[in-house]
Amino acid sequence: MRGFGYVISVILTVAGAIYTLVSLIFTLIIMSEVSSESDSFAEGLVLLLILFTMFYLPTFALFFFGHRIRKKLKRKNEAEAAAIAAAQYDPVYHAPPVQQRVETKTVINVVESRPAPAPKKAPTVSVECKGCGARKAVVKGESTSCDYCGSPLAATAQ
Ligand SMILES: [Zn+2]
Repeated sequence: MRGFGYVISVILTVAGAIYTLVSLIFTLIIMSEVSSESDSFAEGLVLLLILFTMFYLPTFALFFFGHRIRKKLKRKNEAEAAAIAAAQYDPVYHAPPVQQRVETKTVINVVESRPAPAPKKAPTVSVECKGCGARKAVVKGESTSCDYCGSPLAATAQ
């Protein structure tokens, strides 16, 4: 999409350069004529003023707008490049709602697939079975049964 605006800006700049050349040539021609005729200094000033508004202002405008379009394009290109880079970094960058949904889903999946961490963290007590002497880790304050003989095991016993 860089084509059209860029071409216009180049045309403007090239036209500005050509216009500058034409302006300089006309300035030299008019100056030589004014100095050769030299009947009125005011007339020469008016001619210079006309020259300025007819040639130098458009030249300036051409350069100015040519430059401005390129600057704008450059900024746009940079923004696009940044967007592309961001999209490459994060494949779902272009669709924030989808990204949010995916993230939420992922978080839920992670939470669901992960074994509940609470039992691991809960302090356990190694309890010796009164029936067979086997040891079993029992959560403090809770009771369970022996894996081997089925006798009730209570962590509060110790
Ligand atoms: Zn036992």
